[in-house]
Amino acid sequence: MTRPCDTADFDLFVIGGGVNGCGIARDAAGRGISVGLAEMGDLGAATSSASTKLFHGGLRYLEYLEFRLVRESLVEREILLRAMPHISWPMRFVLPYSPNMRFEGGTPVSRMIALLMPWMKGRRPAWLIRAGLFLYDHLGGRKILPGTRSVDLRTDPAGASLKSDFRKGYEYSDCWIEDSRLVVLNARDAARRGATIMPRTRVINARRQDDGWLITLSDSSGEWQVHARMLVNAGGPWAGSIIKGVVGSNAADRVRLVRGSHIVTRKLFDHDKSYFLQGTDGRIIFAIPYEGQFTLIGTTDKDHTDAATPPVCTDEEADYLLDFASQYFAAPLTRDDIVWRYSGVRPLYDDGASSATAATRDYVLKLDDAGGAPLLNIFGGKITTYRKLAEAALAKVAPLLGNSHGTWTADAPLPGGDFAPHQVQTQIDRLRQSYAFLDQDWATRLIRAYGTEAFDMLADATSVDALGKAFGHTVTATELDWAITREWVMSGEDFLWRRTRLGLVMSEAEAEAIDLYIREGAGKAVNASRA
Ligand SMILES: Cc1cc2nc3c(=O)[nH]c(=O)nc-3n(C[C@H](O)[C@H](O)[C@H](O)COP(=O)(O)OP(=O)(O)OC[C@H]3O[C@@H](n4cnc5c(N)ncnc54)[C@H](O)[C@@H]3O)c2cc1C
Repeated sequence: MTRPCDTADFDLFVIGGGVNGCGIARDAAGRGISVGLAEMGDLGAATSSASTKLFHGGLRYLEYLEFRLVRESLVEREILLRAMPHISWPMRFVLPYSPNMRFEGGTPVSRMIALLMPWMKGRRPAWLIRAGLFLYDHLGGRKILPGTRSVDLRTDPAGASLKSDFRKGYEYSDCWIEDSRLVVLNARDAARRGATIMPRTRVINARRQDDGWLITLSDSSGEWQVHARMLVNAGGPWAGSIIKGVVGSNAADRVRLVRGSHIVTRKLFDHDKSYFLQGTDGRIIFAIPYEGQFTLIGTTDKDHTDAATPPVCTDEEADYLLDFASQYFAAPLTRDDIVWRYSGVRPLYDDGASSATAATRDYVLKLDDAGGAPLLNIFGGKITTYRKLAEAALAKVAPLLGNSHGTWTADAPLPGGDFAPHQVQTQIDRLRQSYAFLDQDWATRLIRAYGTEAFDMLADATSVDALGKAFGHTVTATELDWAITREWVMSGEDFLWRRTRLGLVMSEAEAEAIDLYIREGAGKAVNASRA
């Protein structure tokens, strides 16, 4: 049958369009490797749009002595911030201190404290938190992000929304990241460098041949086959079923599925800092300012049965998060405060850890070339380490493809990210000077989503009317056309819940009008490409 991609012969074929698959495709394409990528749904629709959205070292992993992972993640924060200052920004985290907060039971550090200081009965001493934050400040060579400081919660604005018994705390830095935009911008950059990106295309079968892989793909128009010298399995939660079902391999490595859920509530506090909250059960959660009018609270850790079962935030998980946060906030939270919930599945490497919380968050890459053509299986990882994971993947596959191009992504901005992190306001001002009809909120939203590409999107428009039909909340036909033609948007959901989070504020009628416009526009675009 007619193929929806221009070529049927790739050096490298990637299964999965999450952050890891798109990051690998971008890195490989930039080295001159011919790349195909198939994603069975929308780009980033699985785990990579359901995260807590932090580029972070992972303060809590220090208690597991995961120094390699923490250090790499800490260093990455600033590399990534520089490469994408539009969709990532520094964030301060306030850690209220309470002597009653406990360790995660089985961590190496908690076992050591239990041995040396049995009278602490699992409580985290303040000096240990300070020591952890000192390490966190110094392990990763900060240049942009400010360091840790103590805060007096009786006088600091961050204390105002908390219960009065929280008097002191600490404040440290990490970064925010718009997770699903990160995925699509990697896919765009990969495509710009020659990769063929195929969303809504499922890999249903891959068989080894003498000189590579014969891969059977399926989309709404039917099935077809492509050939590739190497295959990368970046299927996230489906990595295990791809190994067994799609490839038919007996590899022993397994993925451990751990569900994490979040709730989005009305705005709980009036400042731009986040909270790192320790629980009496040894876990931690975050409470983060979200999309201007909301607070994001998460996450949970629950073993999840299988990738085919869609993850949902259960009432039990929502109540757990409400109770947890209510231990800190002066006004207790109830289910009425929840405006949205979401859930995702962490595709962790199964290291045999006893609890879901304890399973390693580090990534593991396994090259399987026992039966001839190479297959690289990806397990675990974090959004924060996606670029390093891609480099590690390329270090394994590039030599096998005879490619000697070195690493390149550390200094390369993602589309729209070609300005310095401290120049966001300058870009917003520039956009408003060029397009006088934009107000501050609208210009901020466009720069935060599209960076300098907002200028390309608005082109020579001189009035709001020139941007075509208005759909509410500053969305216009011009922006939807951009999403359809540049960001593979095929439905209202893609645009409202992944390219943006405007689904949180759109009315049902507005969302329907957007969906209709996109489906008509996307249909025409697909037909034109297949003509
Ligand atoms: C609750 C939660 C919070 C998190 N918070 C953070 C955080 O704050 N910071 C951080 O750094 N990390 C965080 N993470 C981790 C991070 O989100 C994941 O490590 C990362 O998103 C995994 O990306 P991935 O590309 O491997 O998987 P995915 O994003 O799941 O992508 C895999 C893709 O493969 C596709 N696929 C599967 N099978 C096929 C097939 N046969 N054909 C075609 N396509 C296929 C799927 O549709 C899917 O889109 C969090 C994770 C969770 C669950």
